[in-house]
Amino acid sequence: MKIYLDGKFVEKEDAKISLFDHGLLYGDGVFEGIRAYHGRVFMLKEHIQRLFDSARAITLTIHHTKDEVENIVLETLRANNLKDAYVRLVVTRGVGDLGLDPYKCPKASVFCIADKIKLYPEEFYKNGLEIVTVSTRRNIPQAINPCIKSLNYLNNILAKIEAVRAGVPEAIMLNAEGYVAECTGDNIFICKDNTIITPPTWAGALDGITRRTVMEIAKSKMKLLVKEDLMTPYHLYIADECFLTGTAAEVIPVTKIDSRVIGNGRPGKITAKLIKEFHELTRTSGVPI
Ligand code: PMP
Repeated sequence: MKIYLDGKFVEKEDAKISLFDHGLLYGDGVFEGIRAYHGRVFMLKEHIQRLFDSARAITLTIHHTKDEVENIVLETLRANNLKDAYVRLVVTRGVGDLGLDPYKCPKASVFCIADKIKLYPEEFYKNGLEIVTVSTRRNIPQAINPCIKSLNYLNNILAKIEAVRAGVPEAIMLNAEGYVAECTGDNIFICKDNTIITPPTWAGALDGITRRTVMEIAKSKMKLLVKEDLMTPYHLYIADECFLTGTAAEVIPVTKIDSRVIGNGRPGKITAKLIKEFHELTRTSGVPI
């Protein structure tokens, strides 16, 4: 495996950063998870834009242009001869002293890992997921905005621990007011009376790229009404259908929440059609490697 690290490609064993990097000491940095399908990188520009937006929000200067970072992703895939892959692109604050002050970190570090994609079990898509709401609330936007895809994922990890302990693969996180925000690594949607509804990002959700893609498919291809609206767990329980979206999971049906059966307990028709259309898009679009 060849890993891009600050201007060079190095072997996995040699891909090391300093213990004084604030990415490690404080989770001070930003990242993206990106996918390549059939020799093309899906939504590459959108991911790079979000990386730069996250960086700007935390005053982290990336010493590259967006085109250069795009090339880093493409070169990493080429170096590893990968056509279908999961890419982790990370920018850390860089090396500083033991204090918090990011202005003492002169240069951000950039690294990029491309690996074979580990697919979710087929039965998740066939039967739908069972998930639960957890007690850990999503970060409040006034403290750390969940739109920033930062290296500080402790909030999500605490929720994931609750999910694992409950024996389910994902957790629904509510915001401080008790409205549904998102899952630990996925956005959440419901379908009710042929309308697709997802929480607005200001309720505490990442502006997910799969979320955006699915909203666009639902509107333009499937002529469905798409709404961003606040919802409580009650609205999830009485939904006709529920599904999650994310780069790794793509579009995945949810059939049970907090032991309530969703709809008829089987993945819904709208979800199935969205999955089909999403796959079609991954087959036919993207930046060639
Ligand atoms: N929410 C969170 C907290 C995430 O980590 C992710 C995965 N990046 C998502 C939602 C889904 O976003 P995307 O579709 O851009 O992968």
